[in-house]
Amino acid sequence: MARQRIPLGRILGIPVGLDPSWFLIFALLTWMLARSYYPDEFQNWSAALYWFMGALTALLFFASVLLHELGHSVMALYYHIRVRSITLHIFGGIAEIGGESPSAMAEFLIAIAGPLVSFALAVIFYVLQPVFFTVQPLFGLFKYLAYINLTLALFNLVPGYPLDGGRVLRAVVWAVSGDMKRATIIAANIGRGFAFLFISIGVWQILSGNLGGGLWIAFIGWFLDNAAKAQLQHIAMER
Ligand SMILES: [Zn+2]
Repeated sequence: MARQRIPLGRILGIPVGLDPSWFLIFALLTWMLARSYYPDEFQNWSAALYWFMGALTALLFFASVLLHELGHSVMALYYHIRVRSITLHIFGGIAEIGGESPSAMAEFLIAIAGPLVSFALAVIFYVLQPVFFTVQPLFGLFKYLAYINLTLALFNLVPGYPLDGGRVLRAVVWAVSGDMKRATIIAANIGRGFAFLFISIGVWQILSGNLGGGLWIAFIGWFLDNAAKAQLQHIAMER
C-alpha cells in the first residue's frame, strides 16, 4: 500500500504510519466493540463508557498489531535487512522488509517472530485478566485482547503465502530443497488455494445471510490472492 501515509513517528529508526484505510477499520471495530461485545458482556454501563472502552480497545488492538510487526522487524534488523516502514491499514499491519532473507533460517525466524509476539501478548493478557476481575472495564479489555491476539497469531500461521505461516512453509521447503525460488512458488500457490477457500467461505456466508462477515472474509481472500499472484509474477519476471 504505497499511497500517502499519515506518519506517526519512528520506532527503532523505522518510520511508522497509518494508511487512510485504517480509519475505516478503526471506526468499524470501535462500533462493534461498543455496540456488541461490551454490551453483551456487561449490561449496566453508560453509553459513554461503552464507546470509550470500544475506542480504547480498538487502539490497543492496533498497538498489538504494531508489536507483531515489530517482532518481524527486529528479527530482520538482526540479519541486517532494512525495514523500510511499518504501516497499519484496513487488514491490520505490514512491515515492509527491504530485501530477501540471506538464508532459510533467517526467513523462518523473521516469519515466526510476529506470531510469537502475538502469542506472548495473548498469554500476558490472559494471565492479567483475573487480576482485574472486580474492575469490569479492565476485565473485559484484557479478555478481548487475549482473544484477539490469539486469533491474530493463529490466523497468521495459516500456511499460505503472504501470511506468516506461508513464509514459514517457504523457509522449510527452502531448507529441504535448497531452492528458494521453488519454495516461494510452492508457498505462493498454496497461498492462492487458501485465498480461494476464504473467498468461497465469504460467498457462502453472504448467501446464508451474513452479509458483513461474508464480505469481510471474501475481501481478505481477494487481498491475499493478489499478494500471492504478485509474488508469482515477480518470480516469473526474474526468470
Ligand atoms: Zn506477521
